[in-house]
Amino acid sequence: MKSECLNAIDAAKGLGASYADVRIIEYRREGVALRNGCPCNLTSSQTFGAGIRVIVQGAWGFASTNQVSTASLKETAQRAVAIAKASAQVKKQDVRLAPKPAVEDIWCTPFTIDPFKVPLEQKLGLLSEIDAILRKRPEIKVANSSMQFAREKQWYMDTDGSWIVQDLIRSGAGYNATAVGNGEVQIRSYPQSWGGNHKCMGYEIVHAYDLLGNAERIRDEAVALLTAPECPSGRMDLILDGPQLALQIHESVGHANELDRVFGFEANYAGRSFMLPELHKGGFKYGSEIVNLVADCTVPGGLSTFGYDDDGVRAQRFHVVQNGVHRNWFTTRETAPLVDQAASNGCNRAEGFNNIPITRIPNLSLMPGNWTLDDMIADTKDGIIMEVNKSWSIDQMRLNFQFGAEIGRVIKNGKITGIVRNPNYQGNTPEFWGSCNAIANQDHWDLWGVINCGKGQPGQTAEMSHGGSPTRFANVEVGIRG
Ligand SMILES: [Zn+2]
Repeated sequence: MKSECLNAIDAAKGLGASYADVRIIEYRREGVALRNGCPCNLTSSQTFGAGIRVIVQGAWGFASTNQVSTASLKETAQRAVAIAKASAQVKKQDVRLAPKPAVEDIWCTPFTIDPFKVPLEQKLGLLSEIDAILRKRPEIKVANSSMQFAREKQWYMDTDGSWIVQDLIRSGAGYNATAVGNGEVQIRSYPQSWGGNHKCMGYEIVHAYDLLGNAERIRDEAVALLTAPECPSGRMDLILDGPQLALQIHESVGHANELDRVFGFEANYAGRSFMLPELHKGGFKYGSEIVNLVADCTVPGGLSTFGYDDDGVRAQRFHVVQNGVHRNWFTTRETAPLVDQAASNGCNRAEGFNNIPITRIPNLSLMPGNWTLDDMIADTKDGIIMEVNKSWSIDQMRLNFQFGAEIGRVIKNGKITGIVRNPNYQGNTPEFWGSCNAIANQDHWDLWGVINCGKGQPGQTAEMSHGGSPTRFANVEVGIRG
């Protein structure tokens, strides 16, 4: 692919580009899903193509093709340059890119079992076993189970001297059971909702969770929720499990710290951010002193774990919030200079070959604390644990939110007294993180994948992971507002 990349770069330079990069991408996906015992989704797809991004007269242009030939790459470079020239007529200022070192490198996701080599019968066999357990009780009207796998090979070259080859593998599995009765519909999922848990690893993720061993519990909890009391209302201590915490991190910290959103370059789809450069300069208190939120594209297994982003910038680890204080944004080569950062921290990513890279939430995790979950529960007088996300709503500035979980467990005087249905809570981002007063230790910590983060116009989907362990927040408004 090196000669194809060189062709594209030379064509763009010859047409007057002051900067150009090309990404040739081969993307393979496989999906296997059962619904009530029947295969409802068996997909296998492959795409191949190239995207060329250029700067001409200080403005961006981008074009893509699914024909990776010399003639097609030249024609694609011409289109990218023509778009850049048109964009230049309405630019407010020239695009400036933060410097970066030129690299030649190869990076591959470490994995043990190639998911594309595991026979379909084996995948369907496990899902069928799970399905049979889930549907053993008549109250379960819908049982879904699925696995998804992706392999993305990237060949990247830019006019700043970088040549990078990456081979990324993502795998995931999970299931849910929906119970109907008593005028209620209740769902339980494992290991989390929205298609299970996904990581950058091989088929071994299927063995990393006890999918079969948890099916009976998940089924019985869905049924028990039909007759469980409603979530209580009022202020109490709230413990979020890993999957719900992940969604909390994603919506109230992740999106709020995308610098394109902060500056309003990206506002139409999902809004802007309450976080502003002025707040950051004042040492904004984003959370309590035990809150350490770390972006890390080097963490093993993260969906946003890679060697280099789509600017060709090396994957990094940095604090977004350190001991409660705001430290950093998610930047690209273009946005880093806007906040006086000497270099990008590597958050520019595109979906596939046919989209231009945009600022993306990287892997972003709440660092573990010192508590065991048992001690945390024993230390809680009046509280509730909420597990696995069911619904979310957050305003355009990422400030006021309301989240719902699948199941609540009420705590009275240090003991779990029972389950409640339709648990939900609401809050305000810095107030909520400011009330964080206990974080469970590393033994309880895991990475939880988000596979459906939508952003941009035209819309793009990205994946990233959020690590967390059960975490307690004091005096949170729970249930229906009185
Ligand atoms: Zn998102």
